[in-house]
Amino acid sequence: MDDSWKAKAACRGMNTNLWYPEQDGGRPYTVPRRICLGCDVRPDCLAYILSIESREGPRHGMWAATSPDERKRMARAKARREWRKNARERVSV
Ligand code: SF4
Repeated sequence: MDDSWKAKAACRGMNTNLWYPEQDGGRPYTVPRRICLGCDVRPDCLAYILSIESREGPRHGMWAATSPDERKRMARAKARREWRKNARERVSV
């Protein structure tokens, strides 16, 4: 996977603890989410973390303006869409 997008990350050089508030007393994701929403490489970042989580399991922290719970919901929704698509293909054969 091409990681060149990381050079344009808005979070580059910032205090990464901001992106892991659950490890620091449970602060809300407000600040990192705002930074992520203005980041030019958010789609690349989201594709990257979803790819890692699909192979290796959940990761902590906010990535691409998504919390771990939000990414879990996205992964479940994707699995449901794929299941329905496969079911439709089985019925139409
Ligand atoms: S979307 Fe957020 S976590 Fe991802 S590179 Fe940009 S600022 Fe960093």
